[in-house]
Amino acid sequence: MIRIQNIKLSLDEDESLLKGLAAKKANISMRDIKYFKIIKKSIDARDKGNIHFSYIVDIDTVLPETPKIIAQKYSRPQKRIAIIGTGPAGLFAGLSLARAGFQPILIERGSSVENRQKAVSQFISERLLNTSCNIQFGEGGAGTFSDGKLNTGVNSPLNKIVLEEFVAHGAPEEILFQNKPHIGSDNLPNVVKNIRKEILSLGGEVYFDTTLIGIKTDGGIKTDGGIKTDGGKITSILCENEKIFDIEVENVVLAIGHSSRDTFQMLFDNGIMMEQKDMAIGFRIEHKQKFINKSQYGNFAENKKLGAADYKLSSQASDRGVFTFCMCPGGTVVPATSEPGAVVVNGMSNFKRDGENANSAVVVQVKKSDYGEGILAGIDFQRKLESDAYIAGGSDYSAPVQLVGDFLKNKESKAFGEVKPSYSLGAKFYPLHALLPKEMTLAIQLGLQDMDRRLKGFAMNDAVLTGIETRTSSPVRVLRGENLNSVSLSNLYPCGEVGYAGGIMSSAMDGLKVAQIIKEKYAI
Ligand SMILES: Cc1cc2nc3c(=O)[nH]c(=O)nc-3n(C[C@H](O)[C@H](O)[C@H](O)COP(=O)(O)OP(=O)(O)OC[C@H]3O[C@@H](n4cnc5c(N)ncnc54)[C@H](O)[C@@H]3O)c2cc1C
Repeated sequence: MIRIQNIKLSLDEDESLLKGLAAKKANISMRDIKYFKIIKKSIDARDKGNIHFSYIVDIDTVLPETPKIIAQKYSRPQKRIAIIGTGPAGLFAGLSLARAGFQPILIERGSSVENRQKAVSQFISERLLNTSCNIQFGEGGAGTFSDGKLNTGVNSPLNKIVLEEFVAHGAPEEILFQNKPHIGSDNLPNVVKNIRKEILSLGGEVYFDTTLIGIKTDGGIKTDGGIKTDGGKITSILCENEKIFDIEVENVVLAIGHSSRDTFQMLFDNGIMMEQKDMAIGFRIEHKQKFINKSQYGNFAENKKLGAADYKLSSQASDRGVFTFCMCPGGTVVPATSEPGAVVVNGMSNFKRDGENANSAVVVQVKKSDYGEGILAGIDFQRKLESDAYIAGGSDYSAPVQLVGDFLKNKESKAFGEVKPSYSLGAKFYPLHALLPKEMTLAIQLGLQDMDRRLKGFAMNDAVLTGIETRTSSPVRVLRGENLNSVSLSNLYPCGEVGYAGGIMSSAMDGLKVAQIIKEKYAI
């Protein structure tokens, strides 16, 4: 196999030219190429006068052999393996365990993705929040109504496996080689449904609208005080839907994400060891997508082949880092609260990313020392800001907004300019600079001005800030040890955004990792 790097195509050239160019670079005849695969496609926009595509491809003069897979055999667990949560972590753990014949049982507090779409629509049209089924909770997890960005900083062979599974379950094929792949909110529900179907077809079970509300152990929880007791296992889980019932379990994957605050409380009350964790908070910033395209692609901004441009910015202008996060080209700002009397924002876009506005979180680092005492103090910190944002928005789930120019001058906004906020539940002007603790406001103000030096116009007067973005990651981590099990209970596996991942890809990969550890316990 020969890997050819840096093959360039202009925006007018067709991908059919790639094979010939690869052959030339490898100094072989194109006729001799029996295997050809695009490994990576990225946009090179460093020189605004010569924006082009750059490719990495693999070629070979023989067809690769299909590797022989020797199926691992496993003994049967005597009781169920339960997975709590059907976000990317839970779904990928479930898929892996189901394929190995374990028939896992998945417990999800929200509804199936079909019914979840109705619950989210009802919240938007009638302002009726379903606290168990919303943009955070329900089949597919937090990222189902998202841009479906699939980038990750985690460098692992599991990355490729996750992308291939997404494609096998209905995601667009180009995610396999795009430098910045995304699935889009319009494709995600179908992918999620197809993964569920495969788990069910292999004998797994999925309980929707069912919440884990308690655990029973054999009395052997190892607590913070280090009290060593015998056992240390979950024996059954207590669940609630229309009734309350027990399921006897042999292993439990805890893939509950970062927003299941009542569950964190329940785990804490049961003595499961956790620790506070740093996170970030801030706002969504919106610009016209046309402006972002122009600033990134210059004269090529209108070229359809390039699609909607993105950006990623960070600043160390103050002693608190400020950075953009989860940028959604051509997307909208969405209401992402899971609790009543709270406003939380996030972003999503469809696969085509063809909306008017570009949005991104612009957030400041929050340190554990900002929370105060207590393992769950970070949750109280988030809650207070979310409740303040609710009141600031008029106490009807409208969001508080401010123009960037006014935010920088600590001044109230009076009228929108070119950029209109896309938040679907309505926006109300509010001095957002007064919503956050002073030093965090100052850090974002300095950060925005600094970012404007790199992306000219980023801190333009008319750009809109919408509050408040608090669910960037979990403020608490459920502690696990080397074998990925909870340090308190040997058959409880904290997984994904409970402190071990930050995004769709890393959560899905963590689900696969945890499933592998559980499978190995039964290997024969
Ligand atoms: C609007 C939005 C857009 C996003 N966009 C992106 C993006 O483009 N790219 C990206 O990489 N990341 C994005 N994210 C973040 C990403 O979605 C999360 O990092 C990821 O989903 C975490 O996966 P997870 O499986 O660990 O947890 P989650 O996806 O949060 O899933 C946890 C699941 O557990 C369920 N649950 C919780 N408690 C219980 C309980 N007690 N009983 C039963 N079920 C329970 C919840 O209902 C939920 O479905 C976005 C998030 C949001 C909210």
